[in-house]
Amino acid sequence: MWVTTHVLAGLGIAAALGGPWWLILVLVVLAHVLMDLIPHWDYTVSRHPILYGWCDFIASFAAFWIAWLGLGYPWWIAFMGLLSGAPDWDVLIWVARGEKGRKYFPSHWDSFPHGKSGRAWGISVQVVIMAVGVGVVLAQRP
Ligand SMILES: [Zn+2]
Repeated sequence: MWVTTHVLAGLGIAAALGGPWWLILVLVVLAHVLMDLIPHWDYTVSRHPILYGWCDFIASFAAFWIAWLGLGYPWWIAFMGLLSGAPDWDVLIWVARGEKGRKYFPSHWDSFPHGKSGRAWGISVQVVIMAVGVGVVLAQRP
């Protein structure tokens, strides 16, 4: 899934629970694994993975800054969103290496049943997840 989708889901989980940090840390990483099971569309299979990757990177950090400085969440709650998306550095590094070598995060292994779908469903499902994450973050704002 897109990093932004993971970040907004992680933010939603952190905002909804509010702590303790160690439990949220476990849950947002676990959420990454579970979300990678859902059939979705990844831009790594598109014609412009670098461009979409930059947009994804910028949107992810924008979500962090908005949650922290714009909405007033404690920095560590906002950071849980970035942590939820962080395992995708694994994919980014793999793509930068020319799609050679192995990926290290379990839900990125070739043996993992990573969800794949066409664009219509694959983008829609991520938009729904992002909307729910944003909704929770806005509803729980301090
Ligand atoms: Zn992933």
